[in-house]
Amino acid sequence: METKYWFVDNFQEIHQHYPQIKEAAELIQRGEVVAFPTETVYGLGGQVKLDNAVDKIFKAKGRPSDNPLIVHIADKKDVDELAHSIPSYARKLMEAFWPGPLTVIVPKKDGVLSERVTAGLNTVALRMPNHPAALALIKEAGVPVAAPSANRSGKPSPTTAQHVLDDLKGRIAGVVDAGETGVGLESTVVDCTGDYPIVLRPGGVTEADIKAVAGKADTNTVLKKQEDAPKAPGMKYTHYAPEAPLYIMEGTAQAIQKKVDEWKKEGKKVGVLAASENAASYRAEAVIACGSRSDLSSVARELYGALRAFNEKPVDIIIAEAFPTEGVGAAIMNRLEKAAGHKWIK
Ligand code: AMP
Ligand code: MG
Repeated sequence: METKYWFVDNFQEIHQHYPQIKEAAELIQRGEVVAFPTETVYGLGGQVKLDNAVDKIFKAKGRPSDNPLIVHIADKKDVDELAHSIPSYARKLMEAFWPGPLTVIVPKKDGVLSERVTAGLNTVALRMPNHPAALALIKEAGVPVAAPSANRSGKPSPTTAQHVLDDLKGRIAGVVDAGETGVGLESTVVDCTGDYPIVLRPGGVTEADIKAVAGKADTNTVLKKQEDAPKAPGMKYTHYAPEAPLYIMEGTAQAIQKKVDEWKKEGKKVGVLAASENAASYRAEAVIACGSRSDLSSVARELYGALRAFNEKPVDIIIAEAFPTEGVGAAIMNRLEKAAGHKWIK
């Protein structure tokens, strides 16, 4: 399949009547799937009503069909077309954080969505993205768009259109390129089916942010233990992984260098994923910096690009510095743990 490529200028107000957006939207209307930027990562979108379109998303990604998709809307009003019995705290969260990197899970209305979007669940995950290209595309398509990250399943999510093409060229109808995404990690997923919000997947909107709006919030207990979170089906799969095995280590750059030296002695080519402050101090086959410890949002933004960059380096094994888990650090460490398959160097 030919994969079309459309460039749009991220710095202008992107409008739905842009020819690039119109062409991409037409393909979505016809049941094709196209990748587009959001403020979190690039998504792979297909319209929610057609089984066939949703199937194409799963096929292109190689995504297990029991892992439901997030439905993206361009107008808060569309929520009531898709969901019912929405608790008042969930409305407050939508008001406070939409458009933005927050996904709410609420009871779904029957007969509106392809069953494949929700993988047979009676709930639906909804989000209004904060990116002019995403909003213009959904508006122009005139239908909500189901969109997981636009990567092959198991790989780090794409934060540039090039990442999308590396994974999906020839497998999807097109990609809209509006430059690098902002947040760099996927949205926060919050279960809004109970008495108060429960974070199932940490992201750019933190538990503290949610608590400040909803009065009460918690994080899924299984997640807290840094194990798998069966409540969000997708959390049980290995994700975000580079090709070489990845280990996480806490401690000083000196302590980490000692481990690197040990592995070197065993004849291994070692990669180090480091904060920019420490990167210059390592002696290893490849050192890739990913943001600054003094600004964790920069680490979030650069993490997936850094993980992907190791696939271009001749390394047998990778060691990553651990980051603090405050604020967006919770999401960074959640993704790093999954990329490492929870392997730590003690
Ligand atoms: P992705 O599309 O790859 O960003 O993943 C979306 C995440 O939201 C996955 O972890 C899904 O399992 C989760 N998710 C989507 N819909 C639901 C739902 N109805 N209930 C619980 N989790 C969901
Ligand atoms: Mg994903």
